[in-house]
Amino acid sequence: MQNNPDTTLVTQTAPITAETHGGRAKCLQRLVRLNLPVPATVALSFGAVHNIASGHLPDIPSILAEFPPHALLCVRPSSQDPDWGGPGAVLNIGMNHDRHAELCETLGTQAATKIFLRFVQGYAVHVARLDPDMFDAIDGEGAEALNATLSAYEQETEEPFPEDIATQLAGVLKSMARAWEGTSARLLRMAKGAPADAGLGLVVQQMALGVGRGECGSGVLQLVESETGLEQITGRYLRQSQGRDALSPHAESIFITRDPRGPSLEELVPECFDQLKAHAALMRARLREEMQVEFAIDNGSLHILDGVRVTRSSRAAVRIAVQLARDGIITREEALMRVEPRALNELLHRQIATDAPRDVLGHGIAASPGAATGRLVFSATEAQASAARSEPCILVRRETSPEDIRGMHAAKGVMTERGGITSHAAVIGRGIGLPCVVGISDMKFQIINKTIQASDGRTLREGDIVTIDGTSGQVLLGAPDMHEAALDDAFQELMDWASAASDIGVRANADTPADAQTARNFNAQGIGLCRTEHMFFEPGRLTVMREMIFADSSNDRRASLERLLPMQRDDFTQLFRIMQGQPVCIRLFDPPLHEFLPTSRSGQRELAEALDLPLSTVTRRVDSLMEYNPMLGMRGVRLGITVPEIYEMQARAIFEATIDASKDGESVVPEIMIPLVSAKREVELVRARVDGIAAAVRNERGAAFDYRLGVMVETPRAALRAAEIAPYCAFMSFGTNDLTQMTYGLSRDDAGRFMSTYVKQGVFPEDPFHTLDVDGVGELMQMAAERGRGAQPNIVLSICGEHGGNPESIAFVRQAGFDYVSCSPFRVPVARLAAAQLAI
Ligand code: PEP
Ligand code: MG
Repeated sequence: MQNNPDTTLVTQTAPITAETHGGRAKCLQRLVRLNLPVPATVALSFGAVHNIASGHLPDIPSILAEFPPHALLCVRPSSQDPDWGGPGAVLNIGMNHDRHAELCETLGTQAATKIFLRFVQGYAVHVARLDPDMFDAIDGEGAEALNATLSAYEQETEEPFPEDIATQLAGVLKSMARAWEGTSARLLRMAKGAPADAGLGLVVQQMALGVGRGECGSGVLQLVESETGLEQITGRYLRQSQGRDALSPHAESIFITRDPRGPSLEELVPECFDQLKAHAALMRARLREEMQVEFAIDNGSLHILDGVRVTRSSRAAVRIAVQLARDGIITREEALMRVEPRALNELLHRQIATDAPRDVLGHGIAASPGAATGRLVFSATEAQASAARSEPCILVRRETSPEDIRGMHAAKGVMTERGGITSHAAVIGRGIGLPCVVGISDMKFQIINKTIQASDGRTLREGDIVTIDGTSGQVLLGAPDMHEAALDDAFQELMDWASAASDIGVRANADTPADAQTARNFNAQGIGLCRTEHMFFEPGRLTVMREMIFADSSNDRRASLERLLPMQRDDFTQLFRIMQGQPVCIRLFDPPLHEFLPTSRSGQRELAEALDLPLSTVTRRVDSLMEYNPMLGMRGVRLGITVPEIYEMQARAIFEATIDASKDGESVVPEIMIPLVSAKREVELVRARVDGIAAAVRNERGAAFDYRLGVMVETPRAALRAAEIAPYCAFMSFGTNDLTQMTYGLSRDDAGRFMSTYVKQGVFPEDPFHTLDVDGVGELMQMAAERGRGAQPNIVLSICGEHGGNPESIAFVRQAGFDYVSCSPFRVPVARLAAAQLAI
């Protein structure tokens, strides 16, 4: 048979690979090489199995010749990647009336009948394709049940049950080969990432019976706990059982290690337990992976049937990889490569427990990961009141606006009817690590009535307890069990290794001292984007801000801004102190001014009172600031040019904070970033003003400091004209949210409404606000980077749009030679790991 690579006895030297015979066959060969007690095994290649499905059987007698006469066999699937699945195993092939009679003598009637019965049922279902339900009415495991099963088989198939092992084996091989090639199996594995033509190998193995005289049974053992990855021997053992019976939820299996709750394998057969432990440790060291050992005990002697990678939560995946590297079994680089970057999200946030039942009310876009439970509230004010009562709440809005920020801080989670991945709620949610589901189009929101109707008609009211899952986008009724975030030593160590391995920087988008602290905790290498406008929504500041907006003259405006100056200075001083000398890039004011004005009548009335103005004046002013296309209107640098006092105040606050923070800490070199630039003259003008303020502050305070000025590239024109803009800049940071919006001419706030149709119909491969459009937006970025660098070789390039935390976007900008990415603080670990993997 060694000449025939299609059917190969698994020996230490047989030519077996995962690509030709599948992962299970390869693993079994490794176990054979470790001299573990593996029963005789023959591996059938992908080619052989494909031929079987097409009607060409291999030489069955030569397969049988590899096993002792009268041995019972089992056949198990061996796909290239175990996750792609495969047809169910068939056990006890070779069982017939003669074997039954023999085994009644050697094992006892009960065991022999149990084995025969199992085979007939397995064969009937898998090979003869009979309905499993037809055996439900047959009770027990004795001779009567066996006879009833055999006659049910004969009646249904109109043939006697095959007694010949060659016929049985051929039938099993054919049915398993054909099952793999069926359409539903193919679609199922393709959904798990398998290619359309993925092959199936099969392994034929001699049965270690697990039933009979003496200590017999089967089970599984692993050296770590699957949820935490902590070292702990776990598993199950079921006496008088076969296959994975011990894992069945109804099985009365016993513990593996000593346990006060009942008997254990350790006490029952200590020698087998010790051998198993040693085998598992050897497998870990030599297969360089935590493995679950599948074993059978036959009359007191141990057999290793298989080894499979331990299933693991994301948290366990990190600990297992780190521990293997700590033990010198794998390198740090390999440990980094073994953890899926996005899986870190599950560690950084609370998650719904894997096995918790989910009562799903509706679905939306998973906008900010993590799960949160609380009572429904329908306004930011109620959210704050709820927090004041220490009552966890979920804030429900049609969509959020800057006015909701305090409510968002007070809530445990946010759900909105509208919006996409770059909507206000989504950006703020990710920024502050608040679970968030947006664009929930299958639930009806009635904010005024304070009710939501679920997709199945159930009505939710204020005060009802719901859970949102920002990782899956689900909204659930009630409070399912949760797993807490797990930023443990293994996570920290993996992150340190990631930083050491990366060749592209990772900064955080951080607006507040709390964000900056989170960024530092996750070892961000600075702040890449501080959106200063969020600072003006603090209580006490909003009124002054509104006063400034209502000012009639430049002098009045300056007077209001003077009151904001010390507050801004404090904000920046705190940021600089927290970041301890790491770069902090502050973006000058960006949004349209009317975002700071109340939209409701009652809000406008309150404002009129606060400013001591007639309501009509307030209403007129609010109306006059309204724009048809605010995102393309008077915002960003356009405000900076037309209302220069705002940028002047901000520049002064930054420089004064620079001096203050440098006095008692690391010396600070602030970075000042101009948003929404589209022409070089804009940069020229703002630069001249900022230089002027710097000179004035140096003069007034008698202190020296440096600063760096740069622009956001977020309009297509800025990208196209990068060569003439770059000479004014120390850096260019790509704001891919606006750049995507403007390249497509696609509103980032409204696209959520039709995006799913567009993606479903293949117009866009993905939501471009979620996954960077490398072809279009990416081409602009590449062009701008080349042109910018051509004009200003030392220019620092980065990305600070929401794409900055996506592993695919990081790969793209790294390829384009960018210096760093900047993303929400809670995405920093994901970005650091992704960056490390790219460099390895
Ligand atoms: C951007 O446009 O990509 C960006 C980072 O700025 P904002 O999201 O604040 O418009
Ligand atoms: Mg922008």
